[in-house]
Amino acid sequence: MSDCPYCANSTHQVIWNDGVTRVMYIVDAPFVGWCRVIWHAHALELTDLNEAERERLMRTVYAVETGLRKLLLPVKINLASMGTAMPHVHWHIIPRFADDTHFPDPVWSTAKRTASGRSVPADFAAAMKAHLETSLA
Ligand SMILES: [Zn+2]
Repeated sequence: MSDCPYCANSTHQVIWNDGVTRVMYIVDAPFVGWCRVIWHAHALELTDLNEAERERLMRTVYAVETGLRKLLLPVKINLASMGTAMPHVHWHIIPRFADDTHFPDPVWSTAKRTASGRSVPADFAAAMKAHLETSLA
C-alpha cells in the first residue's frame, strides 16, 4: 500500500527483517530502547492475519521482549498496539525504567521528570540482532 508509512521505507533503524516481520529500533525515542515489530505485508488489524500469522507475529514480539530484558534490564516492559496514525499491524515494545520521564505512568501520560540521560549500550542494535537470530532461527 503506497501511502502507508510502514509499507514505505522508514528512517528508523531496522534490526531484523526476515520478510515476514521486521524489528525497528526507534533511535530518537523518548523511551530508551523502544522497539517496534511490524508485520511486513500490509494488514490493517490483527484479525486480518490468520492464526498462524498471528502466532508468527507474536513470536517476534516475544523475542524482542526477551532481548530487551536481557540487554537493558528494564523494570517493566510495555506492549502496545495502538496504530491509529499508522494503520498497519505493528507492536510497540517499550522497556521502562524507574528513571524514565513518565515512570510509573503510561508512556502517553504527562511527563513527571526530565530525561535521565540513560542510553542503550553502543552495541545494542547488533546485540539485539544476534539475539533475534538465535531466538527466531
Ligand atoms: Zn502498510
